[in-house]
Parts: sequence; C-alpha cells; structure tokens
Amino acid sequence: MKIAVIGAGTMGRGIARVCAAHGHRVALQDVDSKILGNSMELIRRGLEKSLERDSGEMGSVAAVLDRIRPTTGWENTAGSEMVIEAVVEKFELKREVFRKLGDLCDAGAILASNTSSIPITRLAAVTKRPERVIGMHFMNPVPRMKLVEVIRGLQTGRETVDSTVALARQLEKVPVEVRDFPGFVTNRILMPMINEAVTALMEGVAEAEGIDRIMHLGMNHPMGPLRLADLIGLDVCLHVMEVLFDGFKDPKYRPCPLLRQMVDAGWLGRKTGRGFYTYPGDRH
Ligand code: NAD
Repeated sequence: MKIAVIGAGTMGRGIARVCAAHGHRVALQDVDSKILGNSMELIRRGLEKSLERDSGEMGSVAAVLDRIRPTTGWENTAGSEMVIEAVVEKFELKREVFRKLGDLCDAGAILASNTSSIPITRLAAVTKRPERVIGMHFMNPVPRMKLVEVIRGLQTGRETVDSTVALARQLEKVPVEVRDFPGFVTNRILMPMINEAVTALMEGVAEAEGIDRIMHLGMNHPMGPLRLADLIGLDVCLHVMEVLFDGFKDPKYRPCPLLRQMVDAGWLGRKTGRGFYTYPGDRH
C-alpha cells in the first residue's frame, strides 16, 4: 500500500518505520529537512538494533529504508491510499494539514490522525470527505507498543474503520475501536490517574517515590504515575487534562494546581531535566 506519514517527529518516524517494515511504500513528510535527515538516521539505527534482537520486522535494513521516501513536498502524499498525520498536537496546525489533504488526495484515500486529544469529528469536518477520516492512535515507542486506538468520528464510514483495523493488524498491532469522546479511552483513564497522583503528592499523602512504589508494586504497573508523567512531559499531561475538563465540563477532570505550577516553573519532566524527579544529563 502507498502510505504517507505527515510529521517525522517521535511518532511519525516510528509509524513510518513500522509501515515500511511491513512492506508498504512510505512517503515521510515534514516541514523541516533537518528533522527528516535525523529521523531517517534514527530509523536506521532502530532497525539495526531490532534485527539484532530479531523482533520480527521484515527484510534487511537497506530494503526497509529503501521503501521510505523522506520529503518536504506534497507530491508523494497526493497519490497515497492512506495518510497518517503525526504533526505537533495543535488544532490549528492539524486543521490546515487536513484541509490540504482533503483537497489534494484521491477521494478514496483514508486520512488518519495520530492525535492524542483533538476530536476526529472536528478534523473530519474541514475535509470534503468526513466519512474517510479516522483516528489511528499509536503508542510510544511505536515499534514496541502493540496497541492502536482506532477512533471513529461521528461521520466516519464503516469501510474506513474496517480498512484501518485491517491495516493495524497487518502491521502486527492490536487495534481497539473507540468512539470520539474527549481523551478517547487511553487518556481519559491514564491522565486522571496521573492527575490524582499529583494531587496526593500536593496533599502530602506520600512522597513521590512512595506513590510510585505503591502503584508499581501494588498495582503491577510497569512504572509509577509520577515517573510516567515525567516521561510523557508535564506540559502534555496538563494539556490533556485541560482537554478533558473543557470537553466534559466536569470538575472531576480539574487539573491539579501543583501540575500547573510545575509547568509554569518549566519543570516539564525528563525533557527539561526536572519534573517530579531530577534527570542530570537528560536535558535536551
Ligand atoms: P514531535 O514534535 O516529535 O513531531 C512533530 C513533527 O511534526 C515535527 O517534526 C515537526 O517538524 C512536524 N511538523 C509540524 N508542522 C508540520 C506540517 N505542517 N507538515 C509536516 N510536518 C510538520 O511530536 P510527536 O510526539 O511525534 O507527536 C505527534 C502527534 O502524535 C501529536 O498529535 C501527539 O499528540 C501524538 N502522540 C504523541 C505521543 C508521544 O508519546 N509523543 C503518543 C501518542 C500520540
């Protein structure tokens, strides 16, 4: 299948790699050619490592890389049967990308978004083919995580859902169909748990290490919620809580004031070297 991935950041490069490793021809598009170069290098290194571990990705590294065309133009995207958008999580930006895709791509092409929190129905509405628009929410890191949350907007057609589910399965992922409600299922459950952990910390119920140890050892979570928040980025966590609060207008989704304060302080987690924990040398 001819697939275009728009946005070659953390998620886009993972999606492009998995698609190419499963035999698809991929146009990997970004506005920044430096990011494209960097992403191709990261994909190559990731493939080499995974072939060493024999994780089941198909073909030689060279053959997989050869199926990915990095580009800053729209020409390859126009002829694609499936487009997976993974640009920065900003509605205005995604709206422009979907408008362009709606004008440019064949009428039968499926336009999917990897958004974590933007309503699929709202993105679909800016195209002239809302029945062909869907959410295809991969998890990070894409090559390792099995889940794909398949989000059905109000106007998404059954055929679009079936084709997207079939593609996810062919990529050896496990698709789960959900409806288009704020935060879908993943973030509607994950983020309030993180928010509650921050509230428990703020109220002095336990130290950060204690809260994380309880959830790790007591609930068998691979990592505690505060450490996970540091990994995701506290700005991203706050943003998703705001989406939930705004979408449902229900006080149970109120972002914890400590979370907001830490974002104000620029303590965003691993990426700034400090969040609920400190990460000397991890700053980037
Ligand atoms: P990122 O910042 O790593 O990458 C985004 C890329 O989009 C950048 O390379 C940027 O140059 C590019 N871009 C911006 N505008 C563009 C345009 N008009 N055309 C083409 N490329 C453009 O972001 P990310 O973490 O990969 O997130 C991408 C999407 O995936 C977001 O919607 C995010 O919510 C979602 N998501 C992220 C994660 C995660 O853990 N990072 C997990 C699931 C879903």
